[in-house]
Amino acid sequence: MPLLEVRDLSVRFGEIEALHGVSFTIDEGAVVTLLGSNGAGKSTTLRAISGLVAPRAGSILFDGRAIAGLSPRAIVKLGVAHVPEGRRVFPGLTVRENIMLGASNGNASSAAIRREADAMFDVFPDIRHFADALGWTLSGGQQQMVAVARGLMAKPRLLLLDEPSLGLAPVIVQAVFQIIAEIHKRGTTVLLVEQNAHMALKVANWGYVLESGGLALGGDPETLWSDERIRDAYLGGGQAKATR
Ligand code: ATP
Repeated sequence: MPLLEVRDLSVRFGEIEALHGVSFTIDEGAVVTLLGSNGAGKSTTLRAISGLVAPRAGSILFDGRAIAGLSPRAIVKLGVAHVPEGRRVFPGLTVRENIMLGASNGNASSAAIRREADAMFDVFPDIRHFADALGWTLSGGQQQMVAVARGLMAKPRLLLLDEPSLGLAPVIVQAVFQIIAEIHKRGTTVLLVEQNAHMALKVANWGYVLESGGLALGGDPETLWSDERIRDAYLGGGQAKATR
């Protein structure tokens, strides 16, 4: 049984049909990337899975359990954490406090949550030094690491990452993808939305391509990458070729 199964998912915003009849699965332990051009429906897919938007039709099964229509809070508790696009680090809180906000166990003591937040610095050594620094003092890449660390505080079985490399310098993008590989190694399943198809297909076991709210294709990274028509149409064409 897949860890996540999305069946015939449709989402509308007024007249806009953001997703129509989207179906795909994610196996436990995989890194799956969701690619597609601007407005294809990638973020909406993540938001539907984490309960931030209600599907008009279709079902979402997490570990065999129907989660569509549950509250975002209930879905986090079941083991799905969402790191949205744009980092959203609180500027007036310290790095440690920002990370602590991700704890989903309401019964844990603040000392225990603090210990867990500090343990995150083993995964994110680059920000350990900034534990007591305020959020606004961090670079974009450091903020992205704080956002991912906050998501991991919920100890998710499935981590949804929306454009973690957006707006970051190439060397920082490398660091962010290394962290995704490390998260994978530690056994967390990842669904990664990316514009950077080149990097995403390097870290992923499987990829899906969304086009105008529908699933255009799915395959292993080699298959997606080796098809020239697919590459030109969906994966950034010449630019992607030049960097491979
Ligand atoms: P991007 O890379 O630009 O974020 P995306 O593939 O993530 O693109 P979505 O953000 O999921 O695309 O948007 C899919 C479609 O739904 C777009 O036409 C978008 O304008 C529309 N849309 C998304 N959110 C809303 C909303 N809250 N209200 C109205 N329309 C929306």
